Amino acid sequence: MKGKRVLIVGTGIGGATAAITLARQGLNVHCIDIKPERPTAGAGICLLHNTMRALEGIGLAKPCLESGMPFAVFKEFDDAGHLLHTHPAPPSCGIRRPELARILETAAQESGAVLEKGVTVQDLTERGERVDVEFSGGRQASYDLIVVADGVYSGLRKRVFGTGSEPRFAGQSVWRFNAPRPAEADGFCLYRTAAGKVLGIFPTSQESCYMFYLESSREPLRIAEDRSHVLIRERLAEFDAPAIRDALDRITEPSQVIFRPLDITLVPAPWHRGRVVLLGDAAHAPTPQMTSGAGMAVEDAVVLAECLASSNSVDEALAGYDSRRFSRVKRIYDASLQLCLNEQEDPAGNKDRSAALLLETYRYLGESI
Ligand SMILES: Cc1cc2nc3c(=O)[nH]c(=O)nc-3n(C[C@H](O)[C@H](O)[C@H](O)COP(=O)(O)OP(=O)(O)OC[C@H]3O[C@@H](n4cnc5c(N)ncnc54)[C@H](O)[C@@H]3O)c2cc1C
Repeated sequence: MKGKRVLIVGTGIGGATAAITLARQGLNVHCIDIKPERPTAGAGICLLHNTMRALEGIGLAKPCLESGMPFAVFKEFDDAGHLLHTHPAPPSCGIRRPELARILETAAQESGAVLEKGVTVQDLTERGERVDVEFSGGRQASYDLIVVADGVYSGLRKRVFGTGSEPRFAGQSVWRFNAPRPAEADGFCLYRTAAGKVLGIFPTSQESCYMFYLESSREPLRIAEDRSHVLIRERLAEFDAPAIRDALDRITEPSQVIFRPLDITLVPAPWHRGRVVLLGDAAHAPTPQMTSGAGMAVEDAVVLAECLASSNSVDEALAGYDSRRFSRVKRIYDASLQLCLNEQEDPAGNKDRSAALLLETYRYLGESI
């Protein structure tokens, strides 16, 4: 496959990782993103044991651990901040999203991929074993493979695969904000009120952490985004934990709060049509309960490169990619959604059932890919 021309659409976590793995196979990789710059702001992300294993395989676990913070504990608190339980958790790394983007994009360029920002695909025509692309701005080029990694709202998926896999609202929205790391946040921490509200914290570096609050609603929540800093304080008013109160005191601007309804999708296999293949959230965007969407995107990128390296043709490689990825991703997607539904229906009553599903799925994630 050496020298084959690949266009990756999207330089997010999945696209940038695919740029690394495919360029290292000797493919000629061009990776574009519609956004003009790499993100410099954003929330945190948890890289679970399987994600760290995949990153280790491409030599990137170390920079993630250096920038982020490793942890291997799960802690439960009440709303006043009293520690109730401590459990072992799979070895993970919390990191700030802009830092992960920096690490991945730097490695992609060092691997020989060409990254181009502020550009998208305007038009695409399949011609047997090649795909002709017209970019925004009118430039044209031909590729042997197109990797669609433009996220859950993928426009190219709709265009090539039709409208059957449009994202749907999962019944929850998420509020996220960053804060200085309190000493107690040295693992994945959940704070619960008696009424069943849950706030989560995990470290994103030795100095910083990220807090999230999931809110259930039948229809997607519409909020006045210019008041999100006030609205989050109202929602978390019952939490007296000093770690949470300190963080909320620092929230003075709407731009400090990231709010989004959770939209999910799982595209049925096969994930390719001709020479166009889906990767990451464009193929499968789960709810965040298993903290695994990015991990699945990273694994996709590793497996796609392995399949291209070990196959005699692109078609054979794409069939192999589908068969190695779909059932694993579906299991994670289903577990994440079940946890999300458990929280919506009866968070306190389903607590033990959810904990068991979480542990069982963590074990499954540790299996080889
Ligand atoms: C609240 C929340 C918390 C999460 N927490 C975790 C976690 O802790 N751990 C974890 O593993 N996962 C987590 N995830 C999931 C994770 O964020 C996603 O699975 C991951 O970002 C998917 O990466 P991606 O590259 O496929 O898509 P994206 O990150 O969405 O990247 C897509 C890229 O494509 C670009 N793009 C879009 N349209 C176009 C276009 N037309 N042309 C060119 N480029 C385009 C975008 O600008 C973007 O850069 C979480 C998700 C949510 C919502």
